[in-house]
Amino acid sequence: MHFVVCLKQVPDTSEVRIDPATNTLMREGVPSIINPYDTHALEEAIRWKEKLGGRVTIVSMGPLQAREALRKAMSFGADRAILLSDRAFGGSDSLATAYILATALKKINETEPIDLVFAGKEAIDGDTAQTGPGIAQRLGFPQLTYVIKVRELTESSVTVERKTEHGRQVVEARLPALLTVEKELNDLRYASLPNVMKAAEYEPEVWDSRALPFDAAQMGLKGSPTSVSRIFAPPGRSGGEIMDGREDPVGTAAHVVQMIFQQNIIMGTPPARGGTHS
Ligand SMILES: Cc1cc2nc3c(=O)[nH]c(=O)nc-3n(C[C@H](O)[C@H](O)[C@H](O)COP(=O)(O)OP(=O)(O)OC[C@H]3O[C@@H](n4cnc5c(N)ncnc54)[C@H](O)[C@@H]3O)c2cc1C
Repeated sequence: MHFVVCLKQVPDTSEVRIDPATNTLMREGVPSIINPYDTHALEEAIRWKEKLGGRVTIVSMGPLQAREALRKAMSFGADRAILLSDRAFGGSDSLATAYILATALKKINETEPIDLVFAGKEAIDGDTAQTGPGIAQRLGFPQLTYVIKVRELTESSVTVERKTEHGRQVVEARLPALLTVEKELNDLRYASLPNVMKAAEYEPEVWDSRALPFDAAQMGLKGSPTSVSRIFAPPGRSGGEIMDGREDPVGTAAHVVQMIFQQNIIMGTPPARGGTHS
């Protein structure tokens, strides 16, 4: 089986701050990591490779420094890593990113047919969760999103559990397919020493905009209809109000009830003291 993992290098958002003057991310000195959801996507691909045999190819788009993330990913047991890197790709929004990645996957598919694509649910910097579905749409693959368990994988189909707002959904799709995954999917492994040593010497393949017949109108800023009008940190939470009801429990309770209605936490009119609300 041929598994492809879409993996993105992201700034560690727990360390990113926003410049209040320019409304842009302050990335200086911020370490880069593999998008956490993508590490689970990779882990799952490697587990199924170990179970059923086959190969795992990692594909990433980003600046040349993303080679570091690819080397790290290789140390977990992937077989091939491709980095799509070119100035012409810069400024791409999720629509253009999905176009570029899907074009690369089509090329890979020509020589090594793809059975299953794994992507993260979302990237922790962009958070749009659009790229995976965008790739699936362009490849004509069924897409199974928010996957928390891969129950069964055969040569022709995959059965997964998806997380939904109201519980879990079990869905089967024919292959080739694309999954976007949640962190609950699996527990990550530690890389083995031989794999770490092999990966340290590994040179990912780098494909630029001339490597494939890309349509310049669909990538970079030109191919990106999204514009970010403002970026800001949400205001911090205030401390809240602490009420000591020991002296006047009934009065305090009545005050809390008033507040609940005033702040529209419950809609309607507050009940009269001692009465019931209808
Ligand atoms: C106007 C505009 C300009 C932008 N300019 C730039 C820029 O110059 N440089 C820049 O780095 N970003 C830029 N971005 C951000 C970039 O568009 C997003 O990072 C990208 O489209 C992916 O979207 P996301 O982060 O929301 O990923 P999501 O859709 O949330 O990611 C879901 C999954 O898709 C896969 N995936 C996403 N992106 C990649 C990738 N690059 N490689 C491999 N797999 C991936 C991963 O598996 C990931 O878990 C720009 C965004 C906008 C709106």
